[in-house]
Amino acid sequence: MARVSFAGLGNMGKSMVRRLLAEGHGVTVWNRSPAAVDELVALGAERAASVADLFAAGPVLSMLADDAAVAAVFDDAVLAAAGRDGIHVSMSTISVDAGRVMAERHEAAGIGYLAVPVLGRPSAAEAGQLNLLAAGDSGVIESLEPVFSTLGRRTWRVGEPPWQANIVKITMNLLIIHALEAMAEGFTLAERHGIDPHQLHELITETLLTGPVYEGYGKAIVDREYLPAGFRTVLGDKDLNLAAAAADKIGLELPTMPALQRTFQTAIDQGMADRDWASIAEVVRRG
Ligand code: NAP
Repeated sequence: MARVSFAGLGNMGKSMVRRLLAEGHGVTVWNRSPAAVDELVALGAERAASVADLFAAGPVLSMLADDAAVAAVFDDAVLAAAGRDGIHVSMSTISVDAGRVMAERHEAAGIGYLAVPVLGRPSAAEAGQLNLLAAGDSGVIESLEPVFSTLGRRTWRVGEPPWQANIVKITMNLLIIHALEAMAEGFTLAERHGIDPHQLHELITETLLTGPVYEGYGKAIVDREYLPAGFRTVLGDKDLNLAAAAADKIGLELPTMPALQRTFQTAIDQGMADRDWASIAEVVRRG
């Protein structure tokens, strides 16, 4: 069994550490706020005194909210203290620019760096059913396969420079956002014409649009159940804006982007920031 470290114990990080512990790996943990650390120490994790100390305890996996969190946690002082043989696997969904900067800063500090963002919700993490989108040095990816195969059903090699994993993840989330909006519009249209949404959901998911997005999020939308939030609307908004920035950078116009950005902003203004991102469907429903 491997020994790894983990920084960032939010909805995803906590579930990933639970999975690693349940499968017999040794895990040293750190989080900005201590409650999540206490919870995992009670399950057998070791507590790290600082982020820099994580590197001494094994390859560091991180699952932090956004660009700002990753930059704050892995600042220059931490990288300088980490030692030259350290490895950092950044699993957060962050921007392409932040991904590039992180890779450069780690290289300068002599620390191995992979970007391995994931597909799947906390429940998939806990069941070891994530899909891992890996980019970076293939030898380092290979060496971590025992850990990756505990967390996920498959490790997809999506590029050589780490930032390519970041753009693939951003793309996958843009597709989910389109599916959420498609369901919002489709279900609302049919409901307002007197169609039973449960029956419609069964029809959709057994014929045209099978798979976890239409099944899982479709059920949440039909039932109007957005708590507990597996993935919060504010984080979905973050990812939508990462896609907008990545498109802007190459001069690509995404025609539906302004409408989707308005929808997320309205959902947040209407109190859905900390509900599951499927709750953006309520914007059309209430409109
Ligand atoms: P979350 O529950 O909001 O947790 C965010 C984590 O980031 C917490 O550990 C939080 O620490 C930490 N954090 C935020 N700002 C920080 C800062 N300035 N300094 C230090 N730590 C900071 O989010 P999540 O759902 O676990 O998502 C984490 C990442 O995974 C995100 O990039 C998200 O896009 C990605 N992701 C999520 C899902 C999902 O379904 N949830 C699926 C795939 C990918 P505190 O506990 O102290 O607040």
